Amino acid sequence: MEKVVVIGSSNTDMVVTTATMPKPGETVFGTVFIVHQGGKGANQAVAAARAGAQVTFIAKVGNDEFGQNAISAYQEDGIDTSHVLVDDQLSTGVAMITVDQTTGENSIIVVSGANAALLPDEVKGLEDVIRSADVLLVQLEIQLETVKTALALAKKYGVKTILNPAPAGILSHDLLKLVDILIPNETEAEQLSGRQLLDMESKKRVVSELLVHVDEAVILTMGAQGVLQKMKNENEQIITAQKVKAIDTTAAGDVFCGYLASCLSDNVAITEAIEVAKNAAAIAVTRRGAQPSIPFINELSKSK
Ligand code: ATP
Repeated sequence: MEKVVVIGSSNTDMVVTTATMPKPGETVFGTVFIVHQGGKGANQAVAAARAGAQVTFIAKVGNDEFGQNAISAYQEDGIDTSHVLVDDQLSTGVAMITVDQTTGENSIIVVSGANAALLPDEVKGLEDVIRSADVLLVQLEIQLETVKTALALAKKYGVKTILNPAPAGILSHDLLKLVDILIPNETEAEQLSGRQLLDMESKKRVVSELLVHVDEAVILTMGAQGVLQKMKNENEQIITAQKVKAIDTTAAGDVFCGYLASCLSDNVAITEAIEVAKNAAAIAVTRRGAQPSIPFINELSKSK
């Protein structure tokens, strides 16, 4: 098995469904309460593991029940958690999600907690772990300096680097040049480029512009429209998404990134890896929740 190292956030998602969203000062009754594991880093680590890779997850949780539950859940997925650090001062990252059961709209409060305390020096101390990887996969729900340190170490040792620049923000060219493969969604691509994505022509232009700053490829995910990808010195390709009845698109992007990282660690060609990742994400959107919706690799062959 090839090795994927994921560095990123680990959150506990607490989801309340209600018929009436509370106004300030108001108390309402909710109808359903569900707790599940989340955080983009964790979702992507789980996706890569379910895709068949040997995954090491580097993250930080609090010294609390949420953190312990998260670590146990990752272990059940076969993820190496020996570098999930535990912070004695801060809580495990939490997302409090309230969903309006009539409109489906949600309000979310995220407390980063221990995620924000995963420090560049701690990642530097794991140089050997990063060096031993085939692929490093990172997102932006932890300190930017920590992400940059990880990317720089991976680059130093020739480990393939993948950045999912989520949540959206502006990144320096210095950081982007440490990236082999950039996987933004449309909002993130708009933020990174400072341009609006109005139609396919503008998407192609933005993908080409972003490609100047990274080493190998830009893969723009476009929800139900699929993927626009461009590699250096090649024409762009549009890969259409599978037609499915989507019921919850939470973590579609995370499933895509985790599966892609797993395939690339196994030296699968990028176009074929995108096919697999897109099929996995299409299954995930037909199921509710983040980590519970992530398919296992054997479910993909059944769905073909
Ligand atoms: P999220 O923030 O919901 O995790 P995202 O915005 O990062 O997702 P998307 O571009 O929405 O990422 O989705 C990633 C990939 O998942 C798409 O490129 C596509 O292949 C697949 N996908 C997403 N939504 C659908 C859908 N409705 N039907 C089929 N495939 C989908």
